Amino acid sequence: MKISLIDIGSNLTHESFASDRDTVMARAIEAGVRYQVVTGADLASSSQAAALAAAHPALLSSTAGVHPHHARSFDASGREQLSELLRRPQVVAVGECGLDYYRNFSPPDAQRAAFLAQLELAAAARKPVFLHQRDAHGDFTAILRDFRGSLTGGVAHCFTEGRTELEDYLALDLHIGVTGWINDERRGQLLRESVPHIPADRLMLETDAPYLLPRDLVPLPKSRRNEPCFLPHIARTVAHLRGESLDDVAISTTRNAIRFFGLSPAHD
Ligand SMILES: [Zn+2]
Repeated sequence: MKISLIDIGSNLTHESFASDRDTVMARAIEAGVRYQVVTGADLASSSQAAALAAAHPALLSSTAGVHPHHARSFDASGREQLSELLRRPQVVAVGECGLDYYRNFSPPDAQRAAFLAQLELAAAARKPVFLHQRDAHGDFTAILRDFRGSLTGGVAHCFTEGRTELEDYLALDLHIGVTGWINDERRGQLLRESVPHIPADRLMLETDAPYLLPRDLVPLPKSRRNEPCFLPHIARTVAHLRGESLDDVAISTTRNAIRFFGLSPAHD
């Protein structure tokens, strides 16, 4: 049986894919990555992602949202544009949205306001949220706890943390997105310890391409660009750490992504 995976976080509209996006998509399918959810990080990339997904309905869906780095520029007209994007069928989640106090590219109060506004839009659109959090666990979980009842679902995208944070997220009934961060034996150590404790029906996989190239790829691409075709490599590491077979991980994570985002990928 050929492996069949879904990449729930690929930044296919990133400029590094501008000249060979079709080849990148073909390589992903060849590697067994049958479907991708293209990440929107601001209004421009969200609208590009929606257009790309509309052009490839059997292969791609997209998210639409404003990353906390861009929160300061998220105003009323941005909210209008976002809610228009959320009416499109190929847009399956709201995000990236959340809080990032690591660099505070936008002030924390602007981040919280943009996060709240997007949670409201998600609740109104009945679509799940694609969540980003860095160095803001306390505020992030407090806001989500208030909102959780009105949300259809949420995934902690690019989860990198340990058991405590994992338990907080599971208590909020969140799904967990695991990237190639897990392939970094040093920086990924907390994640490597917590991954065996993610319930099989909460786990999903993502590359976050072109970011987060798995560090243990052999050979390591010279460009250092990550691609969706490397998702099986991540899945293999996850399987190994969980003591499961690659097939088990593929089956459960694909089933979770289809259910969580309401996807209808083409049959192969
Ligand atoms: Zn992110």
